[in-house]
Amino acid sequence: MSSNLDAPRRIVILGGGVAAFSAASELRTRGYDGALTLLSPEGLPYDRPPLSKGYLLGTEDAAKIALVPEAWYAEHAVDVLAERAVALRPSEASVELGDGGLLSADRVLIATGARPRPLAVPGGELALTLRDRADADALRDALAPGARVVVVGAGLIGAEVTSAAVGFGAEVTLIDPIDPPLVPAVGEALARRLHAMHGQHGVRTIASIPVEISASDGGGARLLRLADGSAVAADAVVAGIGIVPDAALAAAAGIEVDDGVLVDASGATSNPTVFAAGDVSRLRRPDGTLTRRAEHWEAAVRSGQAAAAGMLGEPPPAFGAPWFWLDRYGVHVEAVGTLDGRFGGRVILREADGVPQAAFLLADDGHLLGAAAVDLPLLIRAARRIMDRGLTPDPAALADPSVPPRKLVP
Ligand SMILES: Cc1cc2nc3c(=O)[nH]c(=O)nc-3n(C[C@H](O)[C@H](O)[C@H](O)COP(=O)(O)OP(=O)(O)OC[C@H]3O[C@@H](n4cnc5c(N)ncnc54)[C@H](O)[C@@H]3O)c2cc1C
Repeated sequence: MSSNLDAPRRIVILGGGVAAFSAASELRTRGYDGALTLLSPEGLPYDRPPLSKGYLLGTEDAAKIALVPEAWYAEHAVDVLAERAVALRPSEASVELGDGGLLSADRVLIATGARPRPLAVPGGELALTLRDRADADALRDALAPGARVVVVGAGLIGAEVTSAAVGFGAEVTLIDPIDPPLVPAVGEALARRLHAMHGQHGVRTIASIPVEISASDGGGARLLRLADGSAVAADAVVAGIGIVPDAALAAAAGIEVDDGVLVDASGATSNPTVFAAGDVSRLRRPDGTLTRRAEHWEAAVRSGQAAAAGMLGEPPPAFGAPWFWLDRYGVHVEAVGTLDGRFGGRVILREADGVPQAAFLLADDGHLLGAAAVDLPLLIRAARRIMDRGLTPDPAALADPSVPPRKLVP
């Protein structure tokens, strides 16, 4: 990529996920009329959250999870090449493709996402993982009625896979050393309520970790030995133990990487012509502190949009509090901001008949730091408005299930 920072005329985006797509769309919205290429090894961009929800369950097909209809790309002059980049060559203003071909680019956006974290135990490679459409297809085949399915990791994806497996009539065991998981994401009370749903749906939960997986009968069956000394037999093992950012291309090109490609709020990396967005990126604040990678859909959209602005030399849009959702057993959970108690503050619970519906984290000065709720999206929308406007809500009203969400925002 050239070292002079004239307005770009050839932008190449690496990736076909929502960060890559959002960046392409935002570039055209902002009036960029130069060449725009998306290197997307899996073909036309599609959405990943349905892979553990409707697509896995078979209620949504490949066409349904496309981010936009195919015609959009021609209408917006975006070339999609089903190719993988194998090297960045910043000093030569180009990207190298698998066949040795070079694509010239005066700005590159790395939006290569992440890969499932491998289960680092003997036999760990026998576990299925879930990141792309092919993974979801393979997993669906394994979730047959009566199949013994062991899911390792009860976080966002592991829990959704467990819920889907139950829906298919599989006999499911869920293994995670943390009980309950997801406390920083949704707070202790909701985390307990959500984790308890597994048992209520006939899932056996075990608070341990596997130390070895073996093929027990020379066929498809598996045997997991656990750290607590027990063993579990399975027809299929699925690991959902987190992700590893796909940052190797950036590192090989000498770009600063530390558990993700380091970027500023505009997606700029340590190379002025290379940007990064989505799950592969990690924000470095102006004071040098590194944030946790977001690993959520909306964060990927926003960072793609910010990087588009950055590549055009424009300031990034102002975004409000971060939001994400998860689904399991027919319930829909949303969260905004943080419920991570390590940031201090006090938790306010909204309960109905003794069952927690929502949790709020209030800072010592009364400002809302975050909220999470089960099947109450309007409440989360209200919490989001409160946070974005910097309001100090009435704690009693937050806790009172008879106070409707709109009454919480003055
Ligand atoms: C099963 C599943 C369920 C999820 N559910 C939720 C949810 O309920 N709520 C939520 O908020 N978030 C959810 N997420 C997270 C969310 O989907 C991700 O944060 C988001 O998809 C990240 O987008 P991305 O574009 O950064 O990466 P990705 O979507 O991973 O896209 C990366 C792209 O880069 C491509 N690529 C990789 N290497 C190269 C290369 N060398 N050259 C060119 N291209 C390359 C890949 O093929 C892929 O197309 C879920 C994720 C998964 C996997």
